[in-house]
Amino acid sequence: MEILILGPQGSGKGTQANRIASEYGFAHIATGEILRATVAAGTELGRRLQPILDAGELVPDDLMIELIRQRLAEPDAAEGFVLDGFPRTLPQAEALDEMLAEIGRPLGAVFEFLIGDDVCVRRLRGRAELEGRSDDAPEAIAKRLALYHELTEPVVEHYRARGRLVGIHAEPSVHEVFAELQTALERAGVA
Ligand code: AMP
Repeated sequence: MEILILGPQGSGKGTQANRIASEYGFAHIATGEILRATVAAGTELGRRLQPILDAGELVPDDLMIELIRQRLAEPDAAEGFVLDGFPRTLPQAEALDEMLAEIGRPLGAVFEFLIGDDVCVRRLRGRAELEGRSDDAPEAIAKRLALYHELTEPVVEHYRARGRLVGIHAEPSVHEVFAELQTALERAGVA
């Protein structure tokens, strides 16, 4: 099954995407992780990406679309995947829809994580202390949440208009959120 999780930074998407992927045997495709690994590898591309990530800005659409096109073709994605962090803009969503139509693998479930910005900010500050991610600095957090509302909420509306969207209450504990996801996945016919 092809699953998409939309939600602001700090909503717990990564944690839940990871759990779904391991529970059901799907690939967890987290674009932020792929980009951070590219930066850490110190390649020419990584050096270009670093300032963008550090500032909490978005990487250009064409680069992200190409990255996803290649990632979806990898063997571990054959049984299904959970997309986490992509698409973040309408052009990315349109490119994804086209790509999936071409390979005959439409999205089986699209989740929107519902959570207040205040809770996200609190969680991201906690993570900054624990993990020291450079883009969890206060200015970058504010930038990333603002970009979510401006550019990614239209993506949420795009899938809502297609009748695809299921809202998930993302403020409770990891365990409770996962239980809600499992119920929704069962309804979508995954398990
Ligand atoms: P994340 O771990 O999903 O919060 O992503 C970390 C950073 O990677 C973001 O703040 C962006 O700079 C970049 N990034 C991740 N996914 C995308 C995407 N789909 N489009 C553009 N930039 C992205």
